[in-house]
Amino acid sequence: MSGQLAVVGLGPGDGRWLTPEAAGVLVAADAVYGYGPYLDRVPVREGQARHASDNREEGARATAALGHAARGAKVAIVSGGDPGVFAMAAAVCAEIEAGPEAWRALDLVIVPGVTAMLAVAARVGAPLGHDFCAMSLSDNLKPWELIERRLDAAASAGFVIALYNPISRARPWQLGTALERLRRHLPDATPVVFGRAVGRADERIVITELGDAVAANADMATLIIVGSRETRAVARPCGAPLVYTPRAAAGAST
Ligand code: SAH
Repeated sequence: MSGQLAVVGLGPGDGRWLTPEAAGVLVAADAVYGYGPYLDRVPVREGQARHASDNREEGARATAALGHAARGAKVAIVSGGDPGVFAMAAAVCAEIEAGPEAWRALDLVIVPGVTAMLAVAARVGAPLGHDFCAMSLSDNLKPWELIERRLDAAASAGFVIALYNPISRARPWQLGTALERLRRHLPDATPVVFGRAVGRADERIVITELGDAVAANADMATLIIVGSRETRAVARPCGAPLVYTPRAAAGAST
């Protein structure tokens, strides 16, 4: 089989965060599949076919791209950020597992990208400087009780928490409930960062404290970083404070 499927991360923003590897794979592709707004970020190449699909059609998009590659084409399927973080790479793997035997023999390449939490962290300092975890707040693919259990466990274990998919029109109350839940474990002064559309023209970064954090600070394009008990906000004479989590845990022998 001569086809190839590349699952490509575009990074969270504009072309500056597209890796040279990703750019090369995209130029070489015969066809590119993806959610419309992500496809719009792929530089246009004459003769390349584009297949835009809706955000929710991940399984169908993966199947279509796999079928196309299996017929011998060089196909790319794109995700914002990194394709392995709450994105297309796992959807493609699931379709390969469930699909025809021939798909397992396909040349599959996953091309990593800068994920949103790293881009947001870099804007404010080093909030992910010590142990951290990442969660999607979406309860489309898992029950809300499981999300609450994980929030409890992560906050009480001292992890900094990066929250993807914090809110949407179909999920209006979950973020407020999650913040309320985190206040059970963490002091009101815990630093919280809301990073919206980072790397794009409409980027907005808000640094606040858990006691003041409200769901209205977030929309679908926002990544939230909730600090641990050790995360600090260091005031600076001009501009925003520096938010960081010290590399050593309290009580560590140095
Ligand atoms: N694969 C993507 C994440 C997809 S889930 C990645 O690695 O970044 C979609 C969520 O990612 C959004 O709800 C938001 O929480 C976050 N996100 C994606 N792009 C972002 C950006 N430019 N700025 C802030 N958050 C972003």
